[in-house]
Amino acid sequence: MADLPLMITLMTVLIYLLPSCIKSSEIILPKSLNLTLLTDPSAISAASHDFGNITTVIPGGVICPSSPAEISRLLSYASNGERKFQVAARGQGHSLKGQAAVLNGVIVNMTCLAGVVISDDMKYADVAGGTLWVDVLKNTAEKGVSPVSWTDYLHVSIGGTLSNAGIGGEVFRNGPQISNVLELDVITGKGEMLACSPQLNSELFYGVLGGLGQFGIITRARIVLNHAPKRAKWFRMLYSDFTAFTKDQERLISMADDAGVDYLEGQLFMSNGVVDTSFFPESNQSKIADLVKSHGIIYVLEVAKFYDDPTLPIIGQVVDMLTRTLSYLPGFISMHDVAYFDFLNRVKAEEDKLRSLGLWEVPHPWLNLYVPKSQILDFHNGVVKDILLKQNSTSGLTLLWDNRMSAMVTDEEDVVYIIGILQSATPQNVPEVESLNDSIIRVCKDSGIKIKQYLMHYTRKEDWVEHFGTKWSDFSKRKDLFDPKKLLSPGQDIF
Ligand code: FAD
Repeated sequence: MADLPLMITLMTVLIYLLPSCIKSSEIILPKSLNLTLLTDPSAISAASHDFGNITTVIPGGVICPSSPAEISRLLSYASNGERKFQVAARGQGHSLKGQAAVLNGVIVNMTCLAGVVISDDMKYADVAGGTLWVDVLKNTAEKGVSPVSWTDYLHVSIGGTLSNAGIGGEVFRNGPQISNVLELDVITGKGEMLACSPQLNSELFYGVLGGLGQFGIITRARIVLNHAPKRAKWFRMLYSDFTAFTKDQERLISMADDAGVDYLEGQLFMSNGVVDTSFFPESNQSKIADLVKSHGIIYVLEVAKFYDDPTLPIIGQVVDMLTRTLSYLPGFISMHDVAYFDFLNRVKAEEDKLRSLGLWEVPHPWLNLYVPKSQILDFHNGVVKDILLKQNSTSGLTLLWDNRMSAMVTDEEDVVYIIGILQSATPQNVPEVESLNDSIIRVCKDSGIKIKQYLMHYTRKEDWVEHFGTKWSDFSKRKDLFDPKKLLSPGQDIF
């Protein structure tokens, strides 16, 4: 997903008030479990909402585990005999529509289990499930190593992104975050504590990765590390022609490591949306605004090359390749040279800005779609031009996939674009934006564009069956195997 603020449609600022009095239903845990269940209004209120700010789902209580064994005790008790209550792990609650929520059940606040241990050979880190990716970066980078695949926003938890996929601009090179995990510790819906990997309990391992929290709670993930570069050369280039834009994206992702870039995304400036030109020199900013006005849409290709030593010839060669061979509008390229940490953590500054304007805690009826490369032009014409040009902006990035995991991407094509239509709304116009999202999905279906959703929320079983397609049968078998009482992450609304 591309930078958040450029995707945000500014609307009238309304402060979204949380209900002042939230009452939860009572859950009584036996003393023998030795667990503290928080039921005070602030704990309940915090666990009732998520980043989407669209749903309110009130849990019966929250636990802040001090060890995985506490989660195991909770789940063993809940699954013993009659189902007593359901349980949802919650990382940062950056879900969009209650996926980390549980009505009248128990929220496991995973942020209570955080920490990073780097192996002696620095080839991997064992990371507790509630750790934020930004803290993994801080801990590893100070020793000169780093994970290799990132989400755009780092203030999300290990368990949360591994339950989805974890995608960002490095995906075309290194795969999503779920492809860079060596082993996991998981507590199943039956309360069993199991280690798993491609060799050990592999059904659980592949099920949990991209498994939407359905098969177990991740308490530890062993994450692949590589050398941490010191700096990033970060470019944005403008295109007025969509075909030239996608052709250059696809050429860049096909290049070998050394000769190519390390990060690639894209975004759109649309004449009916917010056009943030601040990345470009002041002398170009009004020209860019004019370009957007005259073309309706300007496509922004965003790439980065990571490096340690500016004197290495390869850096000059890559810069040279970008400036000589890409078909962006002459003169409309801008480069920033930033620390690797600041590049990866770039969305945090935007979060701080939006928070200060009261624009962070608003409803987010976001829509994220995978679109196969062969149909990206149809998508552009049918959705971007015919629908979104009247509404807001989108972004594209490409990715690679390992099909054994639960996560579902559209069909078998090698190159897939992920489009983030990241709208902010007011409490009043959420239905309007959601109906726009529905119409985008309908147009894709009607015109045969084989999309899949990411971070989706379906409420009908048939939509889930269609979403998982050939993987549905394995997905439901794994549920019977690892969480037969269907206790886990009920907010996903699958079972
Ligand atoms: P939560 O919302 O707390 O949980 C998500 C789901 O995972 C729930 O079903 C929950 O029950 C389950 N879960 C949580 N922890 C565990 C665990 N330890 N074990 C098992 N299940 C668990 N995603 C991307 O891929 N790429 C991006 O670039 C990206 N950018 C984003 C930018 C912003 C501003 C935001 C708000 C989100 C972005 N996301 C992105 C989406 C994000 O990755 C998901 O929302 C993710 O779920 C957030 O993690 P979380 O810790 O908040 O998870």
